[in-house]
Amino acid sequence: MSVDELVGQVERARRDYEALVAEGLKLDLTRGKPSPKQLDAANGVLNLSGDPVGADGTDLRNYGGLTGLPEVRAIFAPDLQVPVDQLVAAGNSSLELMHDAIVFALLGTVPGAEQRWVDVEGITFLCPVPGYDRHFGICERYGIKMVPVPMTPDGPDMDVVERLVAEDASVKGIWCVPKYSNPDGTVYSDETVRRLAAMPTAAPDFRIFWDNAYAVHHLTDSPAQLADILALSAEHGNADRPFVFGSSSKITFAGAGVAFFGSSPANIEWWLSHTVKRSIGPDKINQLRHVQFLRDAEGLREHMRTLAELIRPKFDAVEKILSAELGGTGLATWTTPAGGYFVSLQVPEGCAREVVAKAKAAGIAITPAGATHPYGDDPTDSFIRIAPTFPELPEVESAMVGLATCVRLVASEKLLAQQNAQA
Ligand code: PLP
Repeated sequence: MSVDELVGQVERARRDYEALVAEGLKLDLTRGKPSPKQLDAANGVLNLSGDPVGADGTDLRNYGGLTGLPEVRAIFAPDLQVPVDQLVAAGNSSLELMHDAIVFALLGTVPGAEQRWVDVEGITFLCPVPGYDRHFGICERYGIKMVPVPMTPDGPDMDVVERLVAEDASVKGIWCVPKYSNPDGTVYSDETVRRLAAMPTAAPDFRIFWDNAYAVHHLTDSPAQLADILALSAEHGNADRPFVFGSSSKITFAGAGVAFFGSSPANIEWWLSHTVKRSIGPDKINQLRHVQFLRDAEGLREHMRTLAELIRPKFDAVEKILSAELGGTGLATWTTPAGGYFVSLQVPEGCAREVVAKAKAAGIAITPAGATHPYGDDPTDSFIRIAPTFPELPEVESAMVGLATCVRLVASEKLLAQQNAQA
């Protein structure tokens, strides 16, 4: 592009941005929450019919049942790829279970460990980036060093992962969102899953935190297939390596769903040895209501198809508007996920913070730039996470047009400054 064309582009973007600010918008694309319509579609989960007893006759109103209701575990086991007897159904939040797994590993001793993690000098987790800020928040809270690993279209860069885990015994874990990852929507390839399961690690107690939060959240009619991390790890002699997490937060109610922990028999025993001290049993009535609402694994998939009908138009709008506004400009690239809750937008290096600030000034709230990286620090300052599920479609459309205007403004001004500096 010639300097004159670039100047024209900057001037146009400035005019568009002024008009955008004048609109006085108040829009929010920050957090991946279900929309009220999605929640309404799950209202059936509030009903409880018949006596509150389990299939085996247990009175579910009472204490007990630490592993959770077998019937609800049976519904989620196939899609979480965990055998029912190795899957625990707990409270409403899987993040809580991930937090607890870290705390139990710090203060207890995971199977295969020589010492508690809290006694390990320089304990480290690998963090594929861009990734989920709340994973990084747990590590930061407990002083676990985080080492970023770049994501590829097949999952984390496995050459980097294999090297880091092989050479350093203080590397104890890796965060993985293997299906429709947060935020770039990546599905780990079979080869990536196999390498994670098989790789030699210096730490005998290395753990994969397999956060399968979007296991059933497909946006297309051809659901992504994920290789079975538990089976592959066992096959390669590393049965205790994966901790599998999931929940119904974005299936039924985000504040009142059911969360799951799955792993090897030894890890489940270890897990229960800790949780038994914390609780006499989960909310089995909520679990029963989920069983009555979802019925079985096919009922779960059918409900997800209903939700996809509500969510898909919003993702389509994001794609359409980004293509119309930024396609062919060279100012941004973005992902087109086939499931999950997020789109990752990448702008030229050094522009993301400024784009988010400009959007904020125009009344469009975007997740802070840097949130996708450990310590909130994206050294490239280029990743922006878009969460389109919560707002209504017209709001998503307005917000995306506005965000694209901010990208055009910030990125073209930067290009012009670079060209002027070179001239
Ligand atoms: N894991 C991932 C990857 C997420 O994106 C989210 C929420 O956005 C969660 C976990 C939160 O899960 P829960 O509601 O079960 O705590």
